[in-house]
Amino acid sequence: MIRIDPHIHSVYSGDARGTPREILRRASAVGLDAVAVADHNTMKGSIIALKESRGMGITVVPAMELSTSAGHIVALGIQEEISRGLTPVETLDEIHDQDGVAIIPHPFVRYRQGLFVNERNIRVDGIETLTPGTSWATRTGGPGSLQGKEAYQR
Ligand SMILES: [Zn+2]
Repeated sequence: MIRIDPHIHSVYSGDARGTPREILRRASAVGLDAVAVADHNTMKGSIIALKESRGMGITVVPAMELSTSAGHIVALGIQEEISRGLTPVETLDEIHDQDGVAIIPHPFVRYRQGLFVNERNIRVDGIETLTPGTSWATRTGGPGSLQGKEAYQR
């Protein structure tokens, strides 16, 4: 089993204080095998984490959290930054064109722009399940569930 935290915000997100280096140190201290620094609308933190992870024995998955026109989508395993403000479907296409994986973070949390508040009929690769309201999706056999929760290091 691989232990990964797929949704960590760094200082480049504008809403967290951890630098990529601090996040990597913390992740390795708690025994994670991999992390994805998924900042709001930028890959900067992710790219720095990728560089700084060399020799640390921890895998960094390139990522970002996109603000689409209907809510947030986390893109994992992408190579290039994707623009904010596209529709969810356009955003999914961009992610899949880059062979990335699309995860819906905090799907039902309105104040954090949860995508499923506005849009239910959408094909995603996974959803976060340790956020409020998501037991519905796991019970009804929705998309692959990710036992993750957004992490903000402050
Ligand atoms: Zn979000």
